Amino acid sequence: KDTESFDKNVYDWSSEEEEPDGRARPIQVLLVKDDHTFELDEAALSRILLSEEVRDREVVAISVAGAFRKGKSFLMDFMLRYMYNHASENWLGNPEEPLTGFSWRGGSERETTGIQIWSEVFLVDKPDGRKVAVLLMDTQGTFDSQSTLRDSATVFALSTMISSMQLFTEYGRLAMEETFLKPFQSMIFLVRDWSFPYEFPYGQEGGMKFLEKRLKISENQHEELQNVRKHIHSCFTNISCFLMPHPGLKVATNPHFDGRIKEIDGEFINNLTVLVPWLLSPRNIDVKEINGSKITCRGLLEYFKAYIKIYQG
Ligand code: GDP
Ligand code: MG
Repeated sequence: KDTESFDKNVYDWSSEEEEPDGRARPIQVLLVKDDHTFELDEAALSRILLSEEVRDREVVAISVAGAFRKGKSFLMDFMLRYMYNHASENWLGNPEEPLTGFSWRGGSERETTGIQIWSEVFLVDKPDGRKVAVLLMDTQGTFDSQSTLRDSATVFALSTMISSMQLFTEYGRLAMEETFLKPFQSMIFLVRDWSFPYEFPYGQEGGMKFLEKRLKISENQHEELQNVRKHIHSCFTNISCFLMPHPGLKVATNPHFDGRIKEIDGEFINNLTVLVPWLLSPRNIDVKEINGSKITCRGLLEYFKAYIKIYQG
């Protein structure tokens, strides 16, 4: 049944009236189906990556990965706000405005495993004068059974290979399964609901210290855990970590909360205004490189297709 409704959506998106109101929105480009096969919506992906303004631009691909209900889409929507408003000092905008973009309210939402891409690719001027294309990806996995764990690992591996910067969300602890298989650029562990600021302060510095401690290899660790730690270091050029405070009870529990900043804890917002520009400011974003060469949107589409083939086996 899930597959049917997805197919229907695919047809809708593939029709000429795609985005009839011209508004940007999330597009499901990769879907893991109930039988654990992958379906790439190549047509939708091509429409995004091959549009004339972006196809020959070098691409910065940013993804947020993690299990369901970790606040990934919520965070992505703040990243979208930044992308739309970063020229302005007050990119967070009106404190009473509901948060829109990727759909972030859980509850009844169907849980798909896969990758969604924002239909609008942003053109950003780097300080060195280059204009690059920024692609935002929302990656979803489930961890409810062995088989879905494998699916999620595959989704994460794919988004890892496709993105130049990936955030991995976890609540208050660091999970380090061996889900990241290929060398790539930046990995940022985002620890949400951090509740020990007196041990390690919120933000990037506290995060780095926390990460150092967690990634330390010690002899009394199980060999497998030691290997995961070594592996992480050998895979990523940059590893960092950011500790985020709890956003407050309204965010976590109120079903009527619509994302307005006014109802989010001030401490969370303060850290958000550090985190998001740190991730996305024009001088901090990095073009996706594969084997040392910079990739354009057109190239990224080819890699996407090639990687899918590997996983389809
Ligand atoms: P996703 O499945 O990872 O994309 O999660 P969503 O972005 O849809 O958020 C799921 C729920 O978590 C929503 O009700 C949000 O209000 C809430 N939420 C968002 N960020 C946080 C956070 O940092 N901490 C907590 N505790 N809840 C959050
Ligand atoms: Mg989501």
